[in-house]
Amino acid sequence: GSLRLASSFKAADLAIERSTACKPKPEPSSLVFGKQFSDHMLTINWSEKEGWEAPQIKPFQNLSLHPASSALHYSIELFEGMKAFRGVDNHIRLFRPMLNMDRMHRSADRSCLPLFDKAELLECIRKLVEVDQEWVPYSQDASLYIRPTFIGIEPSLGVSRAGKAMIFVIVSPVGPYFATGSFNPVSLLADPAFVRAWQGGVGAYKMGGNYGPTIAVQHEAVKRGCQQVLWLYGEQEEITEVGTMNLFIYWTNEKGGQTLSFLLREPLYSITVSSGDMFCCVSAERELVTPPLDGIILPGVTRQSLLDLARGWGEFKVTERNMGMKELLGALDAGRVLEVFGAGTACVVCPVGSLLYKAKTYQIPTMQNGPDLAKRFHKELSDIQYGRKQSEWAPLV
Ligand code: PMP
Repeated sequence: GSLRLASSFKAADLAIERSTACKPKPEPSSLVFGKQFSDHMLTINWSEKEGWEAPQIKPFQNLSLHPASSALHYSIELFEGMKAFRGVDNHIRLFRPMLNMDRMHRSADRSCLPLFDKAELLECIRKLVEVDQEWVPYSQDASLYIRPTFIGIEPSLGVSRAGKAMIFVIVSPVGPYFATGSFNPVSLLADPAFVRAWQGGVGAYKMGGNYGPTIAVQHEAVKRGCQQVLWLYGEQEEITEVGTMNLFIYWTNEKGGQTLSFLLREPLYSITVSSGDMFCCVSAERELVTPPLDGIILPGVTRQSLLDLARGWGEFKVTERNMGMKELLGALDAGRVLEVFGAGTACVVCPVGSLLYKAKTYQIPTMQNGPDLAKRFHKELSDIQYGRKQSEWAPLV
């Protein structure tokens, strides 16, 4: 196992074979997610005996795999999802790519796949984007989706650690998640019968095995007239994630029995009742809540970015904590919920408009409230991604 941990490929050893038959680039407006691919791909092979081979960029082509390859039988597979953006200055930028490399490295470790130097992989990916730079759409509504993938290709049916493995990276031009300018709210199915991830499991890792089983549930949601799944967990029916997005709730929290400190923090409202020498004060404050990274949540790059932005603004409370369905429905009933939205690379933020839970539909007033915060996050991140705002978060390719 020492080879698994000790060595890495080097971007300096990259061999590039350019395609002689480049495909026509699609119109940015006609793009369907993940259906078109560029002219090149990156592959890096590893074996127990030889360690890592030199990385290769070569014409986009099919893989040739032994039918017993462990990825095909036991889901020894993990992936990442990130994007390259063509900015207003025509420069191409990535978005916090080292966070994807960190997550991929954690997934590889959990999968018993060989480890690698994250900076070297990022440099190989940067080079692939450079080779296929004309595939980064000339549009501030579109981008180039990057799909790093890591598979076990051990040609054996034994359930054991892969002695052969391959990293490959393909890229795909993608259009806007929302038609220009409009933010469409999604409807969610919240059914505790379905569980995406559990304590002690691998929900915090981006493994293919976490995603295949969700497709039937997504289908069920559509059958029941919803667009996506709100994943619940445990006896408290904790709200965890939305589809393949992290979940955020922006609300007015309940802070009973605390007086001056909240009154001084521009509370949304405060009611002070005094009678005789009895004094009671109910106050509240605005708060952004998202579930904590306690093992069942995928640590999203967008999630981290929204938390970082909100904490930087310092305008409202930002909390990572669990929230059960009962608490959410109580807050909805009390009119304290301002916005509910998902957050992920695909859409940045995606407003939630309603919830189907135990045969009852609950309306969520996200759109009626702007959604001011969701829109602000969307603008802030897309300004950085398209170079309208300079930031260390968006390194040039
Ligand atoms: N949760 C899940 C389950 C996901 O698959 C994703 C997409 N990677 C996310 C959240 C959002 O993560 P990110 O912001 O890194 O795209």
